[in-house]
Amino acid sequence: MKVVISSGHSTRCRGAAGPPPWGLDEVNEATRVVDRVAALLGSNCVAKFHDTVSTTQNENLNRIVSFHNSKSRELDVSVHFNAYQNTTKPMGTEVLWVTQQSLAGQISSALATAQGLPNRGAKKRTDLYFLNNTNMPAVLIEVCFVDSQADAAAYKAKFEQACNAIAQALGAQPQPEPEPEPEPPVEALFSDSGTCSWFGGPNDTGVSPSEGLAFIYSYDARPDLFLVSQPPGTTGLARRLNADGVRYVAVRWDYNRTPKTMLASKDQQALVRATKTGREFLAWPADWGPHEDTGRVADLSPALMNDLGIKTDDEVVVIYPAPAEPEVPIVPEYPEVNMTITTNSHVKITVNGVVIEVEAP
Ligand SMILES: [Zn+2]
Repeated sequence: MKVVISSGHSTRCRGAAGPPPWGLDEVNEATRVVDRVAALLGSNCVAKFHDTVSTTQNENLNRIVSFHNSKSRELDVSVHFNAYQNTTKPMGTEVLWVTQQSLAGQISSALATAQGLPNRGAKKRTDLYFLNNTNMPAVLIEVCFVDSQADAAAYKAKFEQACNAIAQALGAQPQPEPEPEPEPPVEALFSDSGTCSWFGGPNDTGVSPSEGLAFIYSYDARPDLFLVSQPPGTTGLARRLNADGVRYVAVRWDYNRTPKTMLASKDQQALVRATKTGREFLAWPADWGPHEDTGRVADLSPALMNDLGIKTDDEVVVIYPAPAEPEVPIVPEYPEVNMTITTNSHVKITVNGVVIEVEAP
């Protein structure tokens, strides 16, 4: 069906408006609906029209109808929004007609359903200039009520569905459901690389005996990270860290991305990889640091540095939370060797689980 569609009223002789902040402005919204429906109709839309000139109602009605009548088409459509009185209650959709009862009923039903609003249905109106003076079959759509809070909310939430419902009732092909957005890859909340140093534990004289930690405030919060008893001559948690027994890490966390409660929880660990040795281990976030002035990106526990096979100022990569799968399998640097002497002349050796049998001469 070849359609000409226009918005009701004019930008200089405006229609209805609901109360701010939620109320709808009829001219603005009718313009949006006409633009979107026209786009959805594609080549079935002969022309669309918005009056930005007329300053009186008569001038406006004449200008709109003249535009429609100047086009070669099969149907005229006018888009309006209704108004009654301020209410929170849903009011709904209606479509006005003089000759097009059936089409008006279809549009009203589809549009009401799309918005989840009451269907007020097709209404015969013999007093409307647009319906009486356009010389092709015509309908006038009242999308919903500008002064109903429920209508305004439903229309705003279902704008695309509403425009699709009108376009399909006017003969457009249904729009295919948009492809669901592919799940974005889980992005690391923290990822950085650079040189490292070590921190924490009884031997870390770089921190004062009373120094606390940035987001773990008591032994009881994470006993797994600490020595069972406070080292003599100290009172702070930094010196109580189990430096030689636990893998932990400090970086300059952005607490907007990794809140303190997240870092302190036992839910997830960081992945720390040593560039030089290629080894990587999971490590618990334990503190904020090192200071930017050091030029380093991470402080590790001595246990972690030892396991990674690195020293101060070697380079590490820190990713938090750790990716679900370790990216590189961890290969032990030294082979595991076992040797058993079974008889005087027979020796059984296993290297990384592979058996080598040796007969003595
Ligand atoms: Zn109106």
